[in-house]
Amino acid sequence: MQNLIEKALNTHQLSKEELLFLLQDDSNLDALLKAADEVRREYVGDEIHLRGLIEFSNFCKNNCLYCGLRRDNKNLTRYRMDEETIIALAAHAKEMGLHTVVLQSGEDLHFNTERMCRIIRGIKELGLALTLSIGEKTKEEYAAYKQAGADRYLIRIETTDKQLYLDNDPGMSWEERAACIRNLKALGYELGSGCLVGLPNQSLASLADDILFFKEVDCDMVGIGPFIPHPDTPLKNAQGRQLNLSLKVMALTRLLLPDINIPATTAMETLAPDGQTKALNGGANVIMPNVTLTDYRKFYQLYPGKTTTGYTPDDSLKKVIDKIQALGRSVGKGCGISPHWLKEQK
Ligand code: SAM
Ligand code: SF4
Repeated sequence: MQNLIEKALNTHQLSKEELLFLLQDDSNLDALLKAADEVRREYVGDEIHLRGLIEFSNFCKNNCLYCGLRRDNKNLTRYRMDEETIIALAAHAKEMGLHTVVLQSGEDLHFNTERMCRIIRGIKELGLALTLSIGEKTKEEYAAYKQAGADRYLIRIETTDKQLYLDNDPGMSWEERAACIRNLKALGYELGSGCLVGLPNQSLASLADDILFFKEVDCDMVGIGPFIPHPDTPLKNAQGRQLNLSLKVMALTRLLLPDINIPATTAMETLAPDGQTKALNGGANVIMPNVTLTDYRKFYQLYPGKTTTGYTPDDSLKKVIDKIQALGRSVGKGCGISPHWLKEQK
């Protein structure tokens, strides 16, 4: 086991079998987190980059079995912000000292290309770096957002197990999702992907494939989310909640993709009060404080117990900065471009 971790530390390459071997071993979590922390320090340094997360609409045309925003969830109060509110929230994020915002939503057809491009231009005029996380679009739409100024895009593959994807994302196509990911990379975005960990019937072998997929599509960022069952979804009785396995997948991702950005995800914090701290000590270098207005937060319920519900944008930021200081790390001063992406531009 130690030999494999040494190999990952030195070469940043592991085969599927080697990844699987490490994922199967229950005793190596601490060793993997320590190795990933070493690689993080060497390749991306001690700064933790902050992204202000704006959850601007919880309407979604899709029906992913795991997600509280799925269209068949009739117990959810739906909201969408108007363009002025979204841009005003971005401006507030800037006033609070943030350099990057992430616009996230369900797949909401109200926000057509024209509307999205107006919002993108409004935010870029503020001088902020901008990430979108609004789901599957055509290559032309992605190109239009890029042209309007969007810098980065987050779209998780969720799982590389095609059958599992089909089972959990009815009406969607794994090939189309993978094509979106490749299109975004080809258009020059800083590409963020990731997966869910702990879905029913998800194998460890498929998690090994997920990590190799991130390398193959040349991700600049990867977010690993433990699946947390939502009571108003078909997966309400599933177990999920696998924090340690998620941390392992994250640590292995850092070992194999040493110079990318990796967030300590909110879902990790939801599962344990020190979930994000563990992630930051095990390879992560990004946090996304929520800057959505307090009134809307309770309705952006992907899963129950989100730790950010009830806080104001200023509270959320303060909590995150306190956490970073307690770790003896520093808040990133710039907009935290992925070193991996930067290297490719040279
Ligand atoms: N609709 C866009 C999409 O699916 O790419 C962006 C927003 S979606 C809510 C963002 C991510 O939330 C998804 O990629 C999924 O991995 C995650 N998510 C959804 N339901 C979840 C759950 N029950 N537990 C943990 N993460 C979840
Ligand atoms: Fe919609 Fe995204 Fe939730 Fe799927 S994961 S239901 S696409 S918001």
